[in-house]
Amino acid sequence: MKYYDKLIFELSRPGRSAYSLPKGCGKEIELPAALRRQAPLDLPEVSEVDVVRHYTNLSQMNFGVDTGFYPLGSCTMKYNPKINEEIAAHPLFTGLHPLQPAETVEGAQEVIDTLDKALAAITGFEHFTFLPCAGAHGELTGLMLMREYHMARGDSARTKVIVPDSAHGTNPASAAVCGLEIVVVKSRPDGLVDVEDLKPLLGPDIAGIMMTNPNTLGLFEREIRQIAALVHECGGLLYYDGANMNPLLGKVRPGDMGFDILHLNLHKTFSTPHGGGGPGSGPVGVAKSVLPYLRIPVTSGFHGNFGVMMRGLAYILTLGKENIKMAGPLAVLGANYIKESLKDVYKLPIPTVCKHEFVYDGLVNDGAREGVPGATTLDIAKRLLDYGFHAPTIYFPLLFHQALMVEPTETESKETLDAFIEVMRRIAEEAAADPEMLHSAPHNTPIRRPDETTAARNPIVKA
Ligand SMILES: *Cc1c(COP(=O)(O)O)cnc(C)c1O
Repeated sequence: MKYYDKLIFELSRPGRSAYSLPKGCGKEIELPAALRRQAPLDLPEVSEVDVVRHYTNLSQMNFGVDTGFYPLGSCTMKYNPKINEEIAAHPLFTGLHPLQPAETVEGAQEVIDTLDKALAAITGFEHFTFLPCAGAHGELTGLMLMREYHMARGDSARTKVIVPDSAHGTNPASAAVCGLEIVVVKSRPDGLVDVEDLKPLLGPDIAGIMMTNPNTLGLFEREIRQIAALVHECGGLLYYDGANMNPLLGKVRPGDMGFDILHLNLHKTFSTPHGGGGPGSGPVGVAKSVLPYLRIPVTSGFHGNFGVMMRGLAYILTLGKENIKMAGPLAVLGANYIKESLKDVYKLPIPTVCKHEFVYDGLVNDGAREGVPGATTLDIAKRLLDYGFHAPTIYFPLLFHQALMVEPTETESKETLDAFIEVMRRIAEEAAADPEMLHSAPHNTPIRRPDETTAARNPIVKA
């Protein structure tokens, strides 16, 4: 254990303090006795250098996209340019008060309008609401719009929503929260929605279908136009989960595929760091047919997560109309480069060209021998941490037993992709030679291998 791994209370010595401004510079206000603390607050007493080292060390115990490659499938962990942070943190915007008179916040209003127009152009939808503060929040909002659309037409029997078996977990969850019944449509062995399985599900009780394209396996649903025609013919609407809009940016528009409602995750595709629970922004876009049901005003109390919207707009404007078209192809190129480079050592269940992400199904040779269990996807993920890479998404989607889902994103250089490929090869060799060593990985991280469930459900975040 390093000295500064100690708790800050263990570093505390009576009388130590950091620099503070001399008293009397500002206006001092006497608090009424009733509001004052009875006993002094139990705070650690530490010098400035101890505080700086303690928190800097703590910040380095975690892995972030600023410390290394983060190929997390289904979550688009791209590098977020610092210029967007600077713009979002500009005092002209952070100093605004949400209750200021409208005529004094025309600049902020222009940000919202410009972002609305940019997202409409990128997706092929009419207008956006910036009310929802996360992707799942956007899904719920979108499904409520879908229900309202049907109810306004007196079509109250539409209580079911179709969700592919490859869908992101939030899709069925949002539908359930919205009070809709979930009907699962199967995928074919090639990973695409089975249109023949879909047809008999369609009827007067179907509110719509939730899809993402490319789907969660990173595959483009080539029959999307036929699916859209079938769903519309039965009176349903198409909901597009656009959390990971990355591969389509500037290339293909969900609005042109026939979708009626979509949400985007500004905190994945449009340059806000994510993970750890926020802040996020899940704007919902609608096609003309659903426009009358869009809520006005289109921002939530205090104008949504405005900083996230600022970053999104800064990202779009710094790239510009031409360069944003390169984001998708580069993300797709990177994913296919890794996929093809490792398919001799990692099992590739669906060998076709992928979009921004793809799925392996464990190792070709996992090292299993008499009495020695083979290396699992969990072992591979843990071992990657020893080499300074974040693990890909594992055991999702549920279509494969040892799913390892890789999404490199467009912000990584070829050198980084090559380094990842080399490490993945080395791990495959280690698995063949010494799977036991992989079972106990990671070996160099501050925390080794916590129980996955307990660590998620009952995390110990303080001593
Ligand atoms: C991340 C994600 C979501 C959910 O977004 P949150 O902001 O985490 O609620 C929904 N769908 C897909 C495909 C995603 O990747």
